[in-house]
Amino acid sequence: MDQQHILLLPLMCHGHMIPTVEMAKLFASRGVKTTFITSPGLAEPIQKARDSGSDIGIIIIKFPPEGSGLPDHIVSVDQLTSDELVSGFVKALCLIQEPVEKVIQELRPTCLVADMFLTWTVDTAAKFGIPRLVFHGTGYLSLCALDKMKRHKPFKNVSSDSEPFVLPDLPHQLEFVRSQVADFDLMENGNDFSKLIQKTRESDWRSYGVVVNSFYELEPDYADHYRKVLGRKAWNIGPLFLCNDGDEAKAARGKKSLIDGHECLVWLDSKKPNSVVYVCFGSMATFSPSQLHEIAGGLEASGQDFIWVVRKSKNKDENEEWQPHGFVDRTKDRGLIIQGWAPQVMVLDHPAIGAFVTHCGWNSTLEGVCAGVPLVMWPLFAEQFFNEKLVTEVLRIGVPVGSKKWQPMGSEGVPGEALAKAVQLVMAGQSALEMRSRAKYYKEMARKAVEEGGSSYNDLSALIEDLSAYRPPRN
Ligand code: UDP
Repeated sequence: MDQQHILLLPLMCHGHMIPTVEMAKLFASRGVKTTFITSPGLAEPIQKARDSGSDIGIIIIKFPPEGSGLPDHIVSVDQLTSDELVSGFVKALCLIQEPVEKVIQELRPTCLVADMFLTWTVDTAAKFGIPRLVFHGTGYLSLCALDKMKRHKPFKNVSSDSEPFVLPDLPHQLEFVRSQVADFDLMENGNDFSKLIQKTRESDWRSYGVVVNSFYELEPDYADHYRKVLGRKAWNIGPLFLCNDGDEAKAARGKKSLIDGHECLVWLDSKKPNSVVYVCFGSMATFSPSQLHEIAGGLEASGQDFIWVVRKSKNKDENEEWQPHGFVDRTKDRGLIIQGWAPQVMVLDHPAIGAFVTHCGWNSTLEGVCAGVPLVMWPLFAEQFFNEKLVTEVLRIGVPVGSKKWQPMGSEGVPGEALAKAVQLVMAGQSALEMRSRAKYYKEMARKAVEEGGSSYNDLSALIEDLSAYRPPRN
């Protein structure tokens, strides 16, 4: 077998960066030579993986690159608060082609695993005669649903934002309304980010294959559909985050937590099993003070203990109080508030956690599934409305909070009562017990999938073997 050398190039945002670091750890753990390209502002996660013993090479390139027009402090997607910054970022993603090609010229890797947003990597890989694998950072159901949305545009057949339509030709009848459709699907000509998303499709199809952070037992119908009906070459090698062993590794993912991990565990240790709701909306979403007031009201009315990761919107209402008057005092015995980054995977793994209110980002969804707890699904943007359907209608391990509007980076319009009701549904009663029992099944399946002989373990072996046999097409 030829010596493989995988070069990984992630998108600069935590939701894509963290699983790509974990993918690098996984390749390295299977004896594959692995190199990771990153920027000075986002070098910490991969550096930590190296410090904890993973044999991964690291190459740091300047980001933002010269000529993008971006200020130097803009290093990741969550900082893009205006259309101007978005345009600069999209330009920056193109401008790193040259430095990345220099790296490839020097290192001569045998495969390039690149994020879906780095569309030029398909041409770069072809230029060097190596395969490009795409990483989308989502699961099979979403990949299939995104394809159907783009191909059939079923939202064109309804006359209002609230009239339901079904996504055609999928294993389940999945119903949506037009207001839940992403702006880049609705508009032919959106901002530069929307245009970039349009380009990803073509670059996807020309790529050698797709690596998917999922496991077969979670969404078998969609894994089969993606391969057999849509004809994609894909390998499911997740859940990637399960490669982190021990509290320290789990707490070290992503940014530095604002709360001491130990403090969190001590607080959780004082609670009964399945009694705490964990509420977090990922690495990018922020909320206006009025929506934060609704969340606070909902948590208070639910009567449950909670950990709430609060992130206030950056641009507006800077001085407005994020909490209703006296909320923190009234809930101090039953609520832990984290303003900033939380050690999510470590928290979710604690037996005191009984449910997870999530924005349905794919990593969070998978982490919730693998914690074996029911989920309250509050989708906001990206492909999160598809992830909601997987959890609530296919797996039946969660309930929707009633979010009906696709809104980039945040959300408005979900009343506190809706949250309180959804939390009660997943925490108490017969249906909560049934959801928890199904969730526990998937938790177990996830662990089996990544063990030696499991479906994801075997798919990774198959991928490594496939890459060894790769020969570039003759022109
Ligand atoms: N995350 C975390 N602490 C936080 C917020 C997020 O550890 O306070 C992690 C979370 O565990 C997940 C990732 O950041 O792995 C977020 O990815 P996801 O796909 O859920 O959402 P995104 O941030 O891309 O919207």
